[in-house]
Amino acid sequence: MSSSSSAAAGAGSGEPSSTGRRGRTAGWVEARTSCPHLPAMPAASADDLARVPPPDSPCSRCHHPAENWLCLICKDVLCSRFINKHMLYHYQDTGHCLALSFSDLSVWCFACDSYLDVQSILELRPVYEVAHLMKFGQRPPFRSLDVLDLSSGQNGGSPSQS
Ligand SMILES: [Zn+2]
Ligand SMILES: [Zn+2]
Ligand SMILES: [Zn+2]
Repeated sequence: MSSSSSAAAGAGSGEPSSTGRRGRTAGWVEARTSCPHLPAMPAASADDLARVPPPDSPCSRCHHPAENWLCLICKDVLCSRFINKHMLYHYQDTGHCLALSFSDLSVWCFACDSYLDVQSILELRPVYEVAHLMKFGQRPPFRSLDVLDLSSGQNGGSPSQS
């Protein structure tokens, strides 16, 4: 058996304080772990994932080179609301509400007006994985799917609270 030593890459930034929490600013927004608009995405097939453009693709409308979003419905690359808002206009025109940021690979739902948690939403993983592979040259470090055995209630011997 190969003991895959998954070294935590990217943690060596040399910061003195070892904070366990992710992010130290108060601006952290909670990502949703579900979204009713996911069925709008095409099923993740090899064919569909082959259409994911490289993360340095320019906006298909104004050719802005960076900070672009990938429409997860039609795989169009469009610039952010801080550039020329083409992704936002695309959503308003077509109703395509799911987009993946090529700058940090976060997924935004315009209809939910919220980020979506790619770690928790299985439907988002294939395209996220492909984008991550193209951007960083390696697959994302997903957490293990221990959510799957939540059904077995593990608090059998909990002390009564009376
Ligand atoms: Zn644009
Ligand atoms: Zn689209
Ligand atoms: Zn949504």
